Amino acid sequence: MNLKDLQNDWINEFSKPLIIAGPCSAESEAQMMETAQRLKESGAEVPVFRAGIWKPRTKPNGFEGVGVIGLNWLKKVKDEFGFKTATEVANAHHVYAALEADVDILWIGARSTVNPFTVQEIAVALKGTNKPVLVKNPVNPDLALWIGALERLLGQDVKNLGVIHRGFSSYQKTKYRNLPNWQIALDFKHQYPNIPMFVDPSHICGRRDLLSDVTQEAFNVGYEGAMIESHCNPDAAWSDAAQQITPEVLAEMFGNLQIRNSDISGFDEEMGKHRALISDIDFQLIELLSNRMKISEKIGALKKENNIAIFQPDRWKVIAEYASARAEESGMGKDFIEKVFKAIHEESIEVQNNIMIDK
Ligand code: PEP
Ligand code: MN
Repeated sequence: MNLKDLQNDWINEFSKPLIIAGPCSAESEAQMMETAQRLKESGAEVPVFRAGIWKPRTKPNGFEGVGVIGLNWLKKVKDEFGFKTATEVANAHHVYAALEADVDILWIGARSTVNPFTVQEIAVALKGTNKPVLVKNPVNPDLALWIGALERLLGQDVKNLGVIHRGFSSYQKTKYRNLPNWQIALDFKHQYPNIPMFVDPSHICGRRDLLSDVTQEAFNVGYEGAMIESHCNPDAAWSDAAQQITPEVLAEMFGNLQIRNSDISGFDEEMGKHRALISDIDFQLIELLSNRMKISEKIGALKKENNIAIFQPDRWKVIAEYASARAEESGMGKDFIEKVFKAIHEESIEVQNNIMIDK
């Protein structure tokens, strides 16, 4: 069987978009129960409650999850409030314990998806399960590795699948914790329209104020659901405090999002895709320009130290000629590119000037 042939009817049990919410980590029974109760009372349509029991942390000696005791709390959340439950599994032992505790949906984290040995071990432990298994994108932007993880699961007869876009790490500091890459996610969707795709705005953003825009962007391009972190007392969370929101804020956020009907015309979805790709590019343009200006500041400081004039006509000539030659090669108007580079150059001179006069 091929990934393209999967039916994935499991998602039709839920109304769309399917929201999976709950704390980054299970911390105590009281924290789990309060979060679940408030999610229920908030009016948000959240059929599935998530909580990490085993936490992959960047550095040792931090909180690494409560372990199997947290599975009892998930069970309690299910029994008392009627949620389905979801947790992350990162090795075969986690899988056995989660299946034993009847967790409803399992996910493979970004740090596991990168490692084929880990994915294979998890897949073998899951052999033949009917439970939905969601695979987060690997931390690096590698579509084949992401798809490979799904193939490993399918190879063990795990047929209820889904994927989660949680963004990609980058060395450069940006406003996102993990850069969204709508292009890769859309390429995935294009190849496998039958596999439900979720957005994880929490791990993309790393901070609360960006969650709504990222989730909206995903819904605009037809994502089937979202996995989002919600905690009864976000600032006191033991992991990922800055990105978690209260159940009430979550309910308000989803109340304000535009949720597309599944029968929306092709035009809106097509437009949403183009806009998402333009967002990727605009973000990169701004990052690049900002980096360029930071280098200009350094040049300004060097020129100041060595008493060199800011405007170097020869240098500008080289930049302008290179830009127009590249413009022609890439099929863009020379005049347009000249205007853009003139504006960049003017700003760069301004930045250097400010350094010279110590502004
Ligand atoms: C999580 O969902 O809490 C988590 C650890 O996510 P990721 O695998 O995306 O880092
Ligand atoms: Mn988290």
